[in-house]
Amino acid sequence: MRGWAVRERAVREWAVREWALWQQPPRVVAYCLACGLAVVSLALFWFPLTPSRADLIRLAVLAGLGILQAELGRHVERARRRLSGSPHITMSSVWTFAGVLVMPIGLVVVLTAVLYLHLGLRSWYRLHRVPPFRTLNNACCVILSSCGAASTLDLAGVPTMSAATTMGTHGAIAVLAVMAVQFGLNAVLILPARAKIGRTPRAWFGGWFDNVLDLATLCLGALNALALAISPVLVVAVFPPVLLLHRTVLVSQLEAEARRDHKTGVYSIAGWQAHAERVEARANRLNANFGLLMIDLDHFKRVNDTYGHLAGDAVLKAIADAIVRNVRGHEDAVGRFGGEEFVVVLPNATGDGIAIVAERIRTAVHELTVEIPVGGGTEIVAGFSVSVGSARYPSAGATVRALLDAADIALYQAKQAGRNRVVAAAARA
Ligand code: GH3
Ligand code: MG
Ligand code: MG
Repeated sequence: MRGWAVRERAVREWAVREWALWQQPPRVVAYCLACGLAVVSLALFWFPLTPSRADLIRLAVLAGLGILQAELGRHVERARRRLSGSPHITMSSVWTFAGVLVMPIGLVVVLTAVLYLHLGLRSWYRLHRVPPFRTLNNACCVILSSCGAASTLDLAGVPTMSAATTMGTHGAIAVLAVMAVQFGLNAVLILPARAKIGRTPRAWFGGWFDNVLDLATLCLGALNALALAISPVLVVAVFPPVLLLHRTVLVSQLEAEARRDHKTGVYSIAGWQAHAERVEARANRLNANFGLLMIDLDHFKRVNDTYGHLAGDAVLKAIADAIVRNVRGHEDAVGRFGGEEFVVVLPNATGDGIAIVAERIRTAVHELTVEIPVGGGTEIVAGFSVSVGSARYPSAGATVRALLDAADIALYQAKQAGRNRVVAAAARA
């Protein structure tokens, strides 16, 4: 029964009218359609392919190994997608980039289509977070960036990897330039297809790990092409590193997951503590200040008692979001200390700075309205408040532990004084 339900859903998702694409902002719809149209036009332009026998053997080797790698790494890929839903890095560029360096671009289009069709059908189709239009758009972006990379190779006057190996430094520089173009286009082309993009470079282009990984897949692609230029049999030597790299991605995503609190999306206490201790070590080294806030929701039990636990969870998430919106993006870290308590570390904040942020958070929560699930519908609820205890390094404590204790005492005083207020911890004697 379950198998049937999943298959029926998959069939429905592939029906054009049901595509999740139509629920995206108009900008995303227009962009995805434009990418698709560009790829179809290019494919028609190259249509009467006249590949040599050697080209077809390379295509078969790359497609075969790509599919084998995807099959061996299926569990990794699905766990990865389930964790992050982030679409843009796949190991497939190990094969498609090798294709750019050793085959006519028309065959790279065929290779990309085969690999993505296989990935879409075998690894991703059961996952709600990866609708078919995303897979299709990713494939289109890979084809378009491969076209840019292939044009660079042409411009450099290097027909293929085999030719590059006979051209000394010029050949090597051309291959590196092609890699740079493919890397840059990969990063830029997927941007307009995202519904929401943050404001930091990290939100635009991912962290350093994502980028190093992207680069590593391209490097392996270049090594693949080199092996193919000598003998297709040698490509087998690139296979184990590809499998290993694929696993590394999952490990890093699991690490990131362990640092997050699932209910609210902020740091888990372990993740926050590790971050706060790095802030402490840095402040200690540079003789700098930093601040720490301990935030407790007022009378939160009443929310649960009145509206139920699920509604309580929705309020908890909305308040966590409000706290995150009122601190500085990358530097300040918000963590869930437990239950309905949050902690914030504010690097480089002085006494006034800490008081301003704490007050901003208190006001934001007080002005917050939250739509909560009630019965079959929703209800707008307002009038929440938080009590905040703040502590400053080094005057209120010399370690994160000591600052937490000081902020906790200040928080208790805020509760005693009537809640919905900020109390700063006294300086140590
Ligand atoms: P006070 O102003 O003194 O802090 O009152 P309070 O009701 O917020 O504090 P108390 O410690 O009495 O209760 C905390 C409540 O937070 C009780 C618990 O049900 C609720 N809570 C803790 N974690 C969660 C959670 O993950 N989800 C929901 N919905 N409620 C939670
Ligand atoms: Mg509490
Ligand atoms: Mg409370």
